[in-house]
Amino acid sequence: MIKIIMTKMITSALLLFAVLASPQVMAAEAIESVRVWPAPDKTRIVFDLAEAPTHSYFTLYDSQPYRLVIDFHNTRNQVNLDALDFESLMVGRVRTSSPPDSSTARIVLELSDQVEPVIFALPPNERYGHRLVVDIPGQSVPEQRVTRSADRLPEREVIVAIDAGHGGEDPGSIGPSGVYEKNITLPVATKLAALINADPGMKAVLVRTGDYGVPLNQRTRVARGQRADMFISIHADAFTSPQPRGASVWVLSRRRANSELGRWLENREQHSELLGGAAEVLSSNGDDIYLARTLLDMSLDSSMSGGFDAANIFIDQLSTVTRLHSRQPQAASLAVLNSPDIPSVLVELGFISNPHEETQMRNSAHQQRLAEALYRGTREFFVNHPLDGTILANQTERQHTVKSGESLSILAQRYGTTVRAIQRRNNLSSTTLRVGQVLDIPIS
Ligand SMILES: [Zn+2]
Repeated sequence: MIKIIMTKMITSALLLFAVLASPQVMAAEAIESVRVWPAPDKTRIVFDLAEAPTHSYFTLYDSQPYRLVIDFHNTRNQVNLDALDFESLMVGRVRTSSPPDSSTARIVLELSDQVEPVIFALPPNERYGHRLVVDIPGQSVPEQRVTRSADRLPEREVIVAIDAGHGGEDPGSIGPSGVYEKNITLPVATKLAALINADPGMKAVLVRTGDYGVPLNQRTRVARGQRADMFISIHADAFTSPQPRGASVWVLSRRRANSELGRWLENREQHSELLGGAAEVLSSNGDDIYLARTLLDMSLDSSMSGGFDAANIFIDQLSTVTRLHSRQPQAASLAVLNSPDIPSVLVELGFISNPHEETQMRNSAHQQRLAEALYRGTREFFVNHPLDGTILANQTERQHTVKSGESLSILAQRYGTTVRAIQRRNNLSSTTLRVGQVLDIPIS
């Protein structure tokens, strides 16, 4: 009897010792890294874990700062949270706190408002392992303010929605030296927006303004919500071999979009995290799905026959600053669309999988040239496809950027004017034109 009790006591003592001395042994799971993505409508915090998380949480909203407390059970934290660098209007700080027991990692998020957090686990995909995603709803980045000129204009500006592809948890394609597509699309989009906003006839709306994810259907919703007259989605291409290079421009083909979406839906077990609610983190399935989703979303209540004309103009403009992958707008078929609404194009700036173009596209001067080409294309489209009541529709002259194969007589015929009128307006002493030359075209 005594012996048995002694054994039990020793066993208990040993267990207690084990608990106190080596919590690592008890905590099999680990928080390996933490990422914070402030976005206009929420702040997303992603915890990377070695295994599927076992967690619980509660909020402390009786005193400030408001707190969300997350307990990761059987887990130790390996991350120095003080080193997290982010600015969010919703989340002030992410820190550790005394855990209820030694095998728990307690993480505290200090919040600026009493909100209902959305917390869900994601299984591993090709890019990431197990994750716990915490969404704190609420405006997390300062609102984008558009400065308008003080004098009231009789006509309105043309509104261009610019969508920088990918962002946040979704880096897009990754170049051979590690450049992320999302880090190329955003500066080009931002530069394009600056050029458009400097034009009194146009106004840009950026779908994303920082490094955060935006669900695909929300990207096109932004365009519609802002009554955009055009939607430009900016991407960089990738291929499995380094050779392919050059820019290309995509437009909607309803048939293509439908077949892409069909394939996507067939694989939806695999892509379940793309569906529903907050779990829209993109897995690494490439731009086909992106394209299909983006274009299908656009086609749901609007269509894009104007996109084909716009795509041709963008291709011409891009050809003056970069190599082209294809001279034709990319689309398997162009369905006849019965309610032309927002012309929409998806521009692949080049191949990030090509080492030369990867280097080029991360270069700020090259990004600026690409943005300028897209700006000129946008302007040319709205001057030549005038929208009623817009400033650009009432230009007394139009601008034309010369493409290869064009002559003064071709341009005179296209714009319903004469060779001499164009010569006079532009002080041309000869009929020789050079590719990329910008001409003022008088309108009768
Ligand atoms: Zn992309």
